[in-house]
Amino acid sequence: MDANSYRHRGLRRALVEELRRKGICDDRVLAALGTVPRHLFFAPAFQTHAYQDKAFPIGEGQTISQPYTVAYQTELLRLAPHDKVLEIGTGSGYQCCVLLQLTPHVYSIEYNPVLFEGTRKRLTALHQHAHLVCGDGSLGLPEQAPFDKILVTAGSPTIPRPLLRQLRVGGALVIPVGDAQAQRMMRVVRESEDEFSREIFEEFRFVPLLGRAGWGG
Ligand code: SAM
Repeated sequence: MDANSYRHRGLRRALVEELRRKGICDDRVLAALGTVPRHLFFAPAFQTHAYQDKAFPIGEGQTISQPYTVAYQTELLRLAPHDKVLEIGTGSGYQCCVLLQLTPHVYSIEYNPVLFEGTRKRLTALHQHAHLVCGDGSLGLPEQAPFDKILVTAGSPTIPRPLLRQLRVGGALVIPVGDAQAQRMMRVVRESEDEFSREIFEEFRFVPLLGRAGWGG
């Protein structure tokens, strides 16, 4: 990825140190956030906000997630170098590019066609090669399953069953689950064909997961 001006590299280094202080400790994840030029996922007028540890509006009532949240979810995925990963909620494409620093096999689904089209163009311009799909990610991407890891970047009322079925045995789903006000981050591991284990982590606040197995169901 280009656009590595001296100033932006410095801002990313400071952001990485802030994330480390806040408890992110996986060096590969921190290096990924230290590489992806987050300012290129913002409209030019708002680029000064890009290296603050904050979520920010991206249009269509949606947000680019806070860097801490991106790092936290990516750390929980525990990606191996060739894992096949599905992201639900492409949004700006920032998280997708962070995942691409860690594995080349990234699939990402966005529900909103306006965001999808803008982000498809952005990632093409940045030469970032993920498999992008426009559709209802609450149902997963059955034609490309199984996945080693699935990451949901919107808040879900429950753990969508279609996503569990699309995990490889040994694979993991990272998903925020709760009501509209707050969600707990969960990591669900497929232990066998029909056994799953679940760990519960910090509380976050995401925009809602729409679609049939999300809030639209
Ligand atoms: N990962 C994104 C990024 O790096 O910019 C931020 C994601 S934003 C917090 C949540 C996104 O999930 C929004 O773009 C929203 O349109 C999308 N979304 C909501 N429900 C969805 C669904 N059922 N399938 C796919 N995308 C969905």
